[in-house]
Amino acid sequence: MDLSAAKSSLWDIIDKRKNEIVGLCSDLIRIPSENPPGNVDEIVSFISQFLAKNGIESRITGPAPEYPNIIAGIGKGPVLLFNGHCDVVPAGDRARWNFDPFGGEITSTTIRGRGTSDMKCGLGAALFAMSLFAQGKIPLGGRLEIHIVPDEETGGANGTKWLVENGYADNAFACIVAEPTSSDTCEVGQKGQIRIHVTAQGKAAHGSIGNYVGENAIMKVATLLSRIEELRSMKGVYSESQTQVLFDSKKIAQEKLERPHVEDVIDHVTVNPGIIKGGIKINMVPDLCEADIDVRIPIGLPAKKVIAQFEEIIQQLNLNNIQYRVEYSEANFTEVSEPLVHTIVNNAEAIWHHKVIPAYQWASSDARYYRNKGIPTLQYGPANTEGIHSYNEDVDIEDVINATKIYSATICDLLVRR
Ligand SMILES: [Zn+2]
Repeated sequence: MDLSAAKSSLWDIIDKRKNEIVGLCSDLIRIPSENPPGNVDEIVSFISQFLAKNGIESRITGPAPEYPNIIAGIGKGPVLLFNGHCDVVPAGDRARWNFDPFGGEITSTTIRGRGTSDMKCGLGAALFAMSLFAQGKIPLGGRLEIHIVPDEETGGANGTKWLVENGYADNAFACIVAEPTSSDTCEVGQKGQIRIHVTAQGKAAHGSIGNYVGENAIMKVATLLSRIEELRSMKGVYSESQTQVLFDSKKIAQEKLERPHVEDVIDHVTVNPGIIKGGIKINMVPDLCEADIDVRIPIGLPAKKVIAQFEEIIQQLNLNNIQYRVEYSEANFTEVSEPLVHTIVNNAEAIWHHKVIPAYQWASSDARYYRNKGIPTLQYGPANTEGIHSYNEDVDIEDVINATKIYSATICDLLVRR
């Protein structure tokens, strides 16, 4: 099969059916699926109907009925996988939106609403691309599959993590997560995370004699937190094949975030004490204080090294009655030499006519579960980053249409029988 002819004819169809793609995205926005609370029943049934109408087999699975995951696909053999989440973060204060977050409004250049960028329009683009292969009966040399998950915004334990742990990704040779990126970067790696929960115990006493009697649990945590930023000096170690991506990622971070030294966010540890709770009354010496600290770790720095450094700080401070527990996930990446990476990059450059750069991100997503399984995985999806997890979220129609073309071309390159 002539691949470039197949691609051009798909791109023509996508241009002709542009309004259908935009309509599908708008429909997805008009079904609220805020998480929390995380009720996705309505959107899952809408997507299931779309799949059925387009001749794509699907089924629903998951650890419990409140976590419906859709597995849908066509063809047999090694799997090219797409992944998208159908939950969105809450719209928050409606007064701060200039439009109805669940109106699915379409302007001359954008689609507006909660989830347009993160990531219902990326999901819409992937679903539409898939439908073209189902309808066009283009012969596939493997299976084209999508995982649509209900809980990415709350960590993915009952979605992607569960699917991967239960064998649903076993036959995948590559995975594209349609999460938002800018059109000129695709994301090939992300930081890991350590969550530290600290509990300090003290001894209660009357506040008036607190400096002499009792033990102040809040001050123990305060002492620890005053040193916690020392972890930020720890940085990752990179192989030669990663140095270009690292360089580009740091440059992108500086351009996007525009703060002194912010490029260090890519290759250094960051520390954020996000919750602190302690004390019950101003005139009592508190006997309990708890804190939660969010530590992000770069590629090339194992979690256990950072945890050992944290333990060292606790020991040096010689604080008694302080306990902690940690949960962590390692940083993860896909090598840029993987066919998946240059296929997406080449197709995106052919569509956009500008350079597309593989980069590491400072946040994390469900991509990690596939990478931990050894599946080459990247993220590329339409987005206007300003509104993500904020107000007035929207996406450019051009970006959505181009993503649909890039996904279709990539399916041709990686899956169509030659
Ligand atoms: Zn997302």
